[in-house]
Amino acid sequence: MTSLEALLADLRRRDPHVRITAQRRLVLEALLAEASGHHTCEDVARAVAVRGIVLDQSTVYRILQWLKDIGIVAQTDLGTGSDVYSLVLGRPHHHLVCLECGAITDIDDSLFDTVREKLKRVHSFHPRIEHSAIYGTCGACWSRKHSGQSE
Ligand SMILES: [Zn+2]
Ligand SMILES: [Zn+2]
Repeated sequence: MTSLEALLADLRRRDPHVRITAQRRLVLEALLAEASGHHTCEDVARAVAVRGIVLDQSTVYRILQWLKDIGIVAQTDLGTGSDVYSLVLGRPHHHLVCLECGAITDIDDSLFDTVREKLKRVHSFHPRIEHSAIYGTCGACWSRKHSGQSE
């Protein structure tokens, strides 16, 4: 359970000169309301509007991009039409996205341990694998396609 105070402390640790404007605070609060969730830019603007404050989507977008740059938020394309933003808290989670039926399955972060390690060792590259989507075909769609029966 992360509080706004903990997030703000995290931001200040990453950037001692960070300015927490009222707008930035509102976006953080909207993300925290459902901390494990996927938020589109529209979702965040709507959550802020519920509180009677209008932030246009370009402002929300700019704040989300800033949070992404600073490493607090991950931006992911889950194949749903708009990118989703989620807070990067503790151990990340990732998804398998079926290109046939659109099913989204959660996968464990430990799967990427070897990838991270190899990228560092072989390429001296430090990846940010925070909330990834891997596209493919789910088991059900795969068997439907390969069962030999044509529709
Ligand atoms: Zn997710
Ligand atoms: Zn599928």
